[in-house]
Amino acid sequence: MEIKKLDLKWTGKLQPLLINSVKHIILHHTAHPSWNVMDVHNYHQRSNNWIGIGYNFFIEKDGTIYEGRGLNIGAGATGYNLNSLHICFAGNFESQTPTEEQIKSGKWLVRYLLSLCPFGVDVMGHKNVGRTACPGKFFTLKEFKEMRRMTKEEQIKLIQEKAGLDDNTMMYLQFYRYGDALIEKLANAMD
Ligand SMILES: [Zn+2]
Repeated sequence: MEIKKLDLKWTGKLQPLLINSVKHIILHHTAHPSWNVMDVHNYHQRSNNWIGIGYNFFIEKDGTIYEGRGLNIGAGATGYNLNSLHICFAGNFESQTPTEEQIKSGKWLVRYLLSLCPFGVDVMGHKNVGRTACPGKFFTLKEFKEMRRMTKEEQIKLIQEKAGLDDNTMMYLQFYRYGDALIEKLANAMD
């Protein structure tokens, strides 16, 4: 899978998002039955007077993933733009259901973004942080929420519990040059 880039025209300057300050990945729907990424881009410019589409990434009904603001500061939820990445799925999930392709692409994208973000980042719906139905009652958030990245401490605890490794062994693992990546791999395999 891949993230496709559009030749979006912005009416202002994009501001880089500090990836280490990201705490949440927030999921949205367009709340419109047929709008695509360009419709949302145009709408956010025309009606909201934003520089362009507010979402960092957008997933069409056929599963195509587009970069919106990418790793720049988005506009998706009041108070949650400086510490969140926003993914929008095309559709109104108060009356429609997301396609299988969308869910598959969404999971791939969340997993990829989590790998770029700091430990402990969680995944949630817009409605978990604002007064909205977004991303709609037919969007199953549960399986996305379960993808949250464990903190380093949680990873170590899990490995110790499941594999019975003692503190010294864990210490040794952490001193190993690729220790952090290895610990995360092990924790994910045991989760
Ligand atoms: Zn939303």
